[in-house]
Amino acid sequence: MFQRNDMKEIKEIVSWLKNKSLYPTPPEVNSPHAVEIIVDHKKKVMFATNNYLSLMHDPRVVEVAMEGLKKWGIGNGSARLLTGNLEIHNQLEREVAKFKQRPSALTFVSGYMANSGAIPAIASVYMVPRLSLSGIELKRNKDSIIFSDEFNHASIIAGIKMSGVQKEIYKHVDMVDLESKLKKYPPSKRKLIVTDGVFSMDGDVAPLPNIVELAKKYKAIVYLDDAHATGILGNHGRGLEDFYDMEGSVDIVMGTFTKAFGGVGGFIVADQDVIDYLKISADTFIFTAPIAPPVVYGLIKSIEIATKETWRREKVVANAKYFREKLKDNDFNFFNSSTQIVPIRIGDEKKALQASKILFDEYDIFVPAARWPAVPKGQARLRTTVSCDHESQHIDYLIDSMKKVRNSLKF
Ligand code: PMP
Repeated sequence: MFQRNDMKEIKEIVSWLKNKSLYPTPPEVNSPHAVEIIVDHKKKVMFATNNYLSLMHDPRVVEVAMEGLKKWGIGNGSARLLTGNLEIHNQLEREVAKFKQRPSALTFVSGYMANSGAIPAIASVYMVPRLSLSGIELKRNKDSIIFSDEFNHASIIAGIKMSGVQKEIYKHVDMVDLESKLKKYPPSKRKLIVTDGVFSMDGDVAPLPNIVELAKKYKAIVYLDDAHATGILGNHGRGLEDFYDMEGSVDIVMGTFTKAFGGVGGFIVADQDVIDYLKISADTFIFTAPIAPPVVYGLIKSIEIATKETWRREKVVANAKYFREKLKDNDFNFFNSSTQIVPIRIGDEKKALQASKILFDEYDIFVPAARWPAVPKGQARLRTTVSCDHESQHIDYLIDSMKKVRNSLKF
């Protein structure tokens, strides 16, 4: 058979990872996400879902999604700017803007698409065309600089890369480092500070009041990825600005429908001008199809339930607090988590994989290991999350099982 040399490296890296037992082999999930879940055809206790408010499979959400399916089918027929601008997308945008208490919203097919499209659009902004002899020239202002927390999500990193502008990566939540970097540039330079609200692998929160203060001082735009805080944090569950009681302070807020709202899709909320601009500049909005109609229907319902049934987020927050206290009492290291994302530090990459496997095989607990390159080398962890469905018995059972795993693996 013809030997393709150009495929050599691809084969080599895959077999190297497989030989070292580092190749990811996620188990197959056989039932919808819930505390009790069927995985690899066996019942497990789930400790790693982003379905925090348990809305993904709520009967009311499923019922309206079925209506959406019957009325619209499974697709949109086109991108929004052509013929796929369905009335229900506009409705979802009104609902999410209302939930986040912002003038306007734009939805994307995923949170990844929201970040990877909006960040380049904002950072390398289109300028008003100047008429030249050869016609209209459409140019982007690349004279911007992005300041980004070193632990920001991969979709933010993708957005920064696509923007092609200069970047400064500041140390994780380190405001002294951020200021020292902001200081280096003249006021004339356009500046954009980008941060996760709740860091997805650490479960800690960004010091938003300090970031906004620095942004004012150095005339920077603030872009907040509120993926994990939306629907959970704050007095009204609106997210990190609500948590800090500083709603409306951040210029651009991104969120996702894949976590608290239990569906698929991403969004940006901001002032009308910003949203109008993103519609003509974010490639991941312009050149791809929007969220599928049954999901749009389901999301409108899940936003309504999340708003009314406040016990859901209150229970997530209470469960997370109980869990962290128990971990502390038992001398587990959970980094600086203060939210429903509670990573348990193992350190060694292989031991983290083993810990996840022992929990799965011997204790019927489902929680994957997060390891390099998703987290820094030597800081592998079990990335657990709690939802409103967990009861204290589930949490106690996980702690007891973890103690046994720690004894056998010595981490
Ligand atoms: N931002 C953060 C902080 C995330 O954790 C995620 C999802 N893991 C995303 C963005 C991307 O969201 P989505 O899954 O909707 O693409």
